[in-house]
Amino acid sequence: MGFDLAHTAGNLPLQLHEWGPDFAVWCSYKYLNSGPGGPSGAFVHERHANSPDLPRFAGWWGHDETERFKMKKGFRPMPGAEGWQLSNAQIFSFAAHKASLDIFDAAGIENLRAKSLQLTGFLEQVLKEADSGRNLFKIITPSEPAQRGCQLSLLTDNRGKALFDFLAEKGVIADWREPNVIRFAPVPLYNSFEDVWQVGQLVAGFPTT
Ligand SMILES: *Cc1c(COP(=O)(O)O)cnc(C)c1O
Repeated sequence: MGFDLAHTAGNLPLQLHEWGPDFAVWCSYKYLNSGPGGPSGAFVHERHANSPDLPRFAGWWGHDETERFKMKKGFRPMPGAEGWQLSNAQIFSFAAHKASLDIFDAAGIENLRAKSLQLTGFLEQVLKEADSGRNLFKIITPSEPAQRGCQLSLLTDNRGKALFDFLAEKGVIADWREPNVIRFAPVPLYNSFEDVWQVGQLVAGFPTT
């Protein structure tokens, strides 16, 4: 089993080794802030670490580094996920990625998750209050905090795009998904409770007539 962690890396604490998937992959330009085109990541479980015979899309940078430049015939992979590397890395995008990961290390993913649970719970509360009696949207993300990351998805009706545009004009950067979903992702590293409160004020001020 392998997991696509595109919306998980940097959003939730992960114990992949303990949970035991065979592998996992993720991009780093979402919650990990590396920017578009930033490096992707891969996890390969330890039980596969030393299986050079596993079929793979092999690239020269995955070859055993002690003899990589000898250019001998045959592929001898590095142990672990490094044996799946294809080519050498882009230094500028890795530098940006490293700067971001250092901030995650300093903050601590458990601390970020603790704030994230509060921040998204607060968003849920202010959105429901702002929408009371109006039925502009329905929150379709699970209401159980353990079943979600930081994001809330709102199923809207034919007023949804106007609401999204109204918020965007006021500086709220959310995400529109056709045909009628607005996604909010308050991020604990740099969004504040005041940001979330302001979203509620703006939604409450959206004219529906
Ligand atoms: C963003 C995303 C990816 C990563 O796509 P890229 O090819 O790295 O741009 C993969 N899966 C899901 C579900 C995503 O949201």
